[in-house]
Amino acid sequence: MSGEREGGPAVRFERIALIGIGLIGSSLARVVRRDGIAPHIAVCARTHATLDTAHELGIADTTTTDPRACVEGADLVVLCTPLGSYGAIAEAIAPGLRPGAIVTDVGSAKVCAIADVGPCLPEGVHFVPGHPIAGTEHSGPEAGFAELFEGRYCLLTPPPGTDPGAIERVAALWRSAGMMVETMSAAHHDRVLAITSHLPHLIAYTIVGTATDLAGEARSEVIKFSAGGFRDFTRIAASDPVMWRDVFLNNRDAVLEMLARFTEDLTALQRAIRWGEGDILEDRFARTRAIRRGIVDAKQA
Ligand code: NAP
Repeated sequence: MSGEREGGPAVRFERIALIGIGLIGSSLARVVRRDGIAPHIAVCARTHATLDTAHELGIADTTTTDPRACVEGADLVVLCTPLGSYGAIAEAIAPGLRPGAIVTDVGSAKVCAIADVGPCLPEGVHFVPGHPIAGTEHSGPEAGFAELFEGRYCLLTPPPGTDPGAIERVAALWRSAGMMVETMSAAHHDRVLAITSHLPHLIAYTIVGTATDLAGEARSEVIKFSAGGFRDFTRIAASDPVMWRDVFLNNRDAVLEMLARFTEDLTALQRAIRWGEGDILEDRFARTRAIRRGIVDAKQA
């Protein structure tokens, strides 16, 4: 389901600058290569090891550790680094951006992205914040693959007044990657993702941590009998620690709100178990089963 059409790709850029070339950046680079979306991909990362790997994988035409040099001459810049790096990167790239360039990002929280990046960008540069909701627990340039985004949603959160042409070009890029694109406010995005993605990761990190702290025999049996549900949590809890640290620090309010609700609901279940209130447990489990069916029906399973 690529965006390539008869007569060429659905959207074209002259030079795409990717700041960060890990799971998401390298997957996007593979889409750009596959569909011929840009003749030049410039890549920036902090380490030469990452840049060398990107070269070897054939997903970078030029590489640099200098963000400003990377964006020079680019008509599209995509920030694909952990959220905590956004402010410093935005400041660094600002003087190198050409007028009319589009800057977008893939970060998992959007209010902070707008606050950290928006004010640094010069007049005449368009900022279209985005979040492709697709991922795995793996990181780095080798972990990427062009099909990562297929059939998934990409949420764009352009602030009011953003140039519609720039929004459409970013949307077309993600559609090329096989994504369904929707637009919403950054605040709404952050609340929705707090419950659908951020809280589940926090729970997974917690439960795997709790199991790890068990002593002796119980601990070794956690691995042995992990198929009983625990295994699925360990996959989520293997996600990149830096990326997820930054998600929680940067979507703090929405995560704390959802965590408070979750804690209340958990306490209610705890009480039901203590007092043997089976009807409460059964009622709750029956309601949640329907959610799973909805996800399967929406082909997001
Ligand atoms: P990743 O695999 O860990 O890759 C991060 C990349 O950024 C690496 O190439 C790293 O290379 C580079 N980098 C880190 N700090 C940098 C800096 N200050 N300047 C320049 N380059 C820097 O991470 P990812 O999973 O692709 O995540 C990237 C972004 O996508 C995050 O904002 C995350 O919230 C978002 N996202 C992730 C997922 C997911 O499931 N993983 C899904 C959707 C969105 P060096 O170490 O060599 O610098």
